[in-house]
Amino acid sequence: MSLKLTYYCPFDETTKIIRVPRETDNLYLQLHDSNDKLVNPSKIFKFSKCKTSEPSVHRSIHQYNDFNCFYKAKDIWEFDNIGVSKPPPNIKNAEFIKVKSIENGEVRNYAIVRYLVCGHCDKGAFGFGGYLLDSEQRENHVEIGFDLSTVNPNDLTYFFYY
Ligand SMILES: [Zn+2]
Repeated sequence: MSLKLTYYCPFDETTKIIRVPRETDNLYLQLHDSNDKLVNPSKIFKFSKCKTSEPSVHRSIHQYNDFNCFYKAKDIWEFDNIGVSKPPPNIKNAEFIKVKSIENGEVRNYAIVRYLVCGHCDKGAFGFGGYLLDSEQRENHVEIGFDLSTVNPNDLTYFFYY
């Protein structure tokens, strides 16, 4: 049996957003786009942290409080109650995010296609659905004005702000 911790919407305090295994390697730290330094949460207001029923347990297993950290979900169905924002009209309007795997140091770049919000009150964001692009692909996609709304939601990678 894998133990999981339930995360709740911090705005309405009752909606279950996701259950994350207590022991997981699927954690990623956000890097600055230009200099690859770790991103400090105080500088980023885009994402809101969910509450957990056991804040003390959460703190003790969380070694990455000083940095922006994300849990990579298997797919969108791993969330309990989640809403998604509309995709940006064009890749030129998209925001990009760079993350590094805590497990193996792998660095990945994503275009943010969907922001994840509470399925009940629509507040958030609690994470994002990203379209994987390396930096070369990113240039090409921007050049041709790639339409992110054509991307199948199943082809996105979903990250929960941890
Ligand atoms: Zn809510």
